[in-house]
Amino acid sequence: MYTSYTNKIAHGIMFHHFHGRKHYKGQGSLSREGFESILNFIGIDRILSPAEWLRRLDSNRLQPSDICITFDDSLMCQFDVALPILERYKLKAFWFIYSNVFEGQINKLEVYRAFRLKNFKHVDEFYDVFLEKVFVSEFGEKAKKAISPSDLRRYQKTFPFYSPNDIKFRFIRDRVLQPSDYEYIMDGIIKDRGVKIGALTRNLWMSNENLKYLSDKGHGIGLHSYSHPTRLAGLAYKDQRMEYGKNYEHIESITSRPPLVAAHPVNSYDLNTFRILEKLNIRCGFRSNMFPGEITGKINGHKYEMAREDSANIIRMMEKSK
Ligand SMILES: [Zn+2]
Repeated sequence: MYTSYTNKIAHGIMFHHFHGRKHYKGQGSLSREGFESILNFIGIDRILSPAEWLRRLDSNRLQPSDICITFDDSLMCQFDVALPILERYKLKAFWFIYSNVFEGQINKLEVYRAFRLKNFKHVDEFYDVFLEKVFVSEFGEKAKKAISPSDLRRYQKTFPFYSPNDIKFRFIRDRVLQPSDYEYIMDGIIKDRGVKIGALTRNLWMSNENLKYLSDKGHGIGLHSYSHPTRLAGLAYKDQRMEYGKNYEHIESITSRPPLVAAHPVNSYDLNTFRILEKLNIRCGFRSNMFPGEITGKINGHKYEMAREDSANIIRMMEKSK
């Protein structure tokens, strides 16, 4: 039983989506009340500011009970819903920013999420449309054969919180379709519905003004790559250097401060990433889970392998403690 949040090792708490204030509710999104109750469950007093987290990390004085708050992916819902709560408690956080969406580009996965939430009453309604579109496409035969009833039963045992449609969707998206095939199917569904991509991107990502505001108020603006690739570790040194270099320049030019921290996009990094972050004088890099890092084999084994707990796991702990 958990009555409060205890930890054996210093780590960040990782947040993504929020709902309320015109932002749609989705799987795993948090309301302002939900966010506030997580902060209280953790314990407001022991949440470190970015500056204090870095001071302690640099001088090897991080305590096992130390916690910091982190937001990934440049999302406007974080600014609109979570920031007012942070301000009420006078808390500062790390915000991990990928930059291409500040330069007129989009992130398709985020757009597809917005489309699912805005245009379908229930996620199952979306799954029906998606599966039908795939089955009549050139990938149909492969998709139909891809998942047998016994596979489905096995997956449901492993992931009891997924519905059969959840499983079929994930299986086809991740195992049957190439990323470009998935985009082709999704773009087709969006077109069928007469929805414009531009309308879906409105209000999804923060603006440069938002970044400047956060930085001026003492929040830490950190690197999260330029285009948020799904597998940064597979990229050549020069491509990784481009991802982090352009990201760094964007943040520094807007905030007038050099970024000091990073979070690995999709938890993907290798030794080349470490070399690049070192050259950029980055003092701390975060993973996206509490497992040992791939490079050191240890939790918090390196300044670029610092652990984070997903807020979804904290919600589960809170529910158990009720
Ligand atoms: Zn991310």
